[in-house]
Amino acid sequence: MLVLQDHDLRIIRLEKELADAPKRKQAIDALLDDHRVALAKAKDDLKTHQSEIKQAELDVEGSREKIRKYRGQQIQLKSNQEFRAMETEVAGVEKTIRQLEDRMIEMMETIEAAQKAVKERETALKTEESSVNREIGVIDQRGRDVQAELDQARQARTALALGIETARLQHYERIMKNKREKALVPVEHGACGSCHMKLPPYQVHEARKQTGIVVCEYCGRMLY
Ligand SMILES: [Zn+2]
Repeated sequence: MLVLQDHDLRIIRLEKELADAPKRKQAIDALLDDHRVALAKAKDDLKTHQSEIKQAELDVEGSREKIRKYRGQQIQLKSNQEFRAMETEVAGVEKTIRQLEDRMIEMMETIEAAQKAVKERETALKTEESSVNREIGVIDQRGRDVQAELDQARQARTALALGIETARLQHYERIMKNKREKALVPVEHGACGSCHMKLPPYQVHEARKQTGIVVCEYCGRMLY
């Protein structure tokens, strides 16, 4: 029965390890979160700069259209004064275009820097990902080993249980199910080996004889 208990304790430990594996994998995967956030931010930045330059292109196009319109109107103007006024208008719009184009050059440099930042973030994430995947691979392999060990332990346990008297086994199993730790403990110096409470001499005697079921009245464990 002590051997059976060893198997049960091992089964409990292995089951716990299997049950904890997803949480451990999650915790490792969470190491990537910072990198993911940084990459998303770099991509957002790039998108913002790209839409800025697109807007500038539209503005330039709009200004050129305005100039074409002014030129068309200019032909129909009658006085020199009106003609000159229109020239001033055109010159103003041309200045706007030059300013926009200057800013677009700056924007292109900003976009190049933003593209570089995205690439760097991607590389950083990939590097971290491969190390995380390696760790997760180790956990998965361990999980398969644990599962195999567990199957084996359960089989051995079933075989052992067949050789144990039903009443004793059921009593033991009830305690084990509740406590999830040692259900069967030795008498040590006349006391319970688990809670260390002093036992009445007749219980010590009974436990030594190994005839019936002797239970510690303080912690409820079976004594031997
Ligand atoms: Zn006890």
